[in-house]
Amino acid sequence: MPLKTDSEYIESLRPLKLQVYAFGEKIENVVDHPLIRPHINSAAMTYRLAHDPMAEELVTATSHLTGKKINRFTHIHQSTDDLVKKVKMLRLIAQRTGTCFQRCVGFDAINALYSVTYEMDQELGTNYHERLRNYVTYIQENDLMVAGSMTDPKGDRSLKPSQQADPDLYVHIVEKNEKGIVIRGAKAHQTGIVNSHEMIIMPTTALTPEDKAYAVACAIPTDAPGIIHIFGRQTNDERKYGEIDQGNAMYGIVGGEALTILENVFVPWDRVFMCEEYQYAGLLVERFASYHRQNYGGCKGGVSDVIIGAAATIADYNGTAKASHIRDKITEMIHLTETLYCCSIACSAEGHRTASGAYFVDPLLANIDKQNVTRFIYEICRLCHDIAGGFIATLPSEKDLRHPEIGKYVDKYFKGVASVPTEDRIRMARLIENMTGGTALVESMHGAGSPQAQRVMIVRQANLEFKKNLAKALAGIKVCQ
Ligand code: SF4
Ligand code: FE
Repeated sequence: MPLKTDSEYIESLRPLKLQVYAFGEKIENVVDHPLIRPHINSAAMTYRLAHDPMAEELVTATSHLTGKKINRFTHIHQSTDDLVKKVKMLRLIAQRTGTCFQRCVGFDAINALYSVTYEMDQELGTNYHERLRNYVTYIQENDLMVAGSMTDPKGDRSLKPSQQADPDLYVHIVEKNEKGIVIRGAKAHQTGIVNSHEMIIMPTTALTPEDKAYAVACAIPTDAPGIIHIFGRQTNDERKYGEIDQGNAMYGIVGGEALTILENVFVPWDRVFMCEEYQYAGLLVERFASYHRQNYGGCKGGVSDVIIGAAATIADYNGTAKASHIRDKITEMIHLTETLYCCSIACSAEGHRTASGAYFVDPLLANIDKQNVTRFIYEICRLCHDIAGGFIATLPSEKDLRHPEIGKYVDKYFKGVASVPTEDRIRMARLIENMTGGTALVESMHGAGSPQAQRVMIVRQANLEFKKNLAKALAGIKVCQ
């Protein structure tokens, strides 16, 4: 049954038996828990818009495996047009949610594995690609949400996986038998994991022969025996028990990340896509990272559209909208946002066909895109804070606004222009606080890899020798071929 609705997606989470802990307690009802529900609502938008005639062209695709209409988040890119549509889709969804909707990580994982397993099979005679195709068909047919699980806890960053004092600091294979493999370790910062049906494990770094036990890619249900999820805290998350103070009560902040423990988890062979082929770990990481970095000018572009709208609205409410410096700051925010979007579109339009038939982005431009996000989002948020004013950091709570005795003072002294209700001004301030605060900023810095991870790939992809030869030719220096 391809193409679930948003409510079918939410209901499909209820029978899952995930072990989730937060604030030191086991959560029995994950779907309705106030810490988690906003993230579920956000992911549900990826399902809802597949049924919206205005968005359908971007949010659905035709499966090259079955010929059926499917949700784009389960699609394998068949052209540069598919890559461009992905970016446009992400911007559209982010404009509706104002935050992360999580489903891109698994989307990028199936696409990265699609071309890498094909190339592995060609060179090694393995049959990983066929398994992957069967798995992707299963995901498409059931319209499942898949988390992408790449980042290991990493322990001492100066040591390789097999050199760590504790071997579990990177996920590794502890047993192989005729039925499958057993893996152990943990994956960190797991976006959307507690509201995903499945998770795809991938290595987090290039590997050497000594680390071959760490070369593992496979798919597991998120509620498989041996899996425990410890939900992460966010800035101001105790506010999730109220409404206005949250800022974006419906969709929350970023992706609802968790630490996922894998305590001797069994994976049958038909769900294993890499098993000790250490020489392909680096390639898989690069493909996945480039696909995920492609996204950021789309999703952060859409988030920034909302921040720009919030900045312009609060300027209206404050009575400052006509000041020339405010208009100039908003212009700068638009310029930065569209620059991010340009990079995402460019790396998609400049994509190419891989041997598997699936399309891959231009990795240099994708890495430039994410590198810009690590800077421009901070600047966009800085400008928004500048425009909004200090009251976004010192506002009393919703309970004070509603209080029978002191509520009238909050209402009176937080008033901006006379025509706008104080509550509207407070709501907009809280939205800004939510979207531009600590948790959201750090996600822009480290989501899809830290800035240094991009710089390593940028210099590797840039063909410096070619540029040196250009300069030498113009300077009249003989170039040795
Ligand atoms: Fe998708 Fe953006 Fe969230 Fe990453 S941060 S999962 S690209 S919405
Ligand atoms: Fe992310």
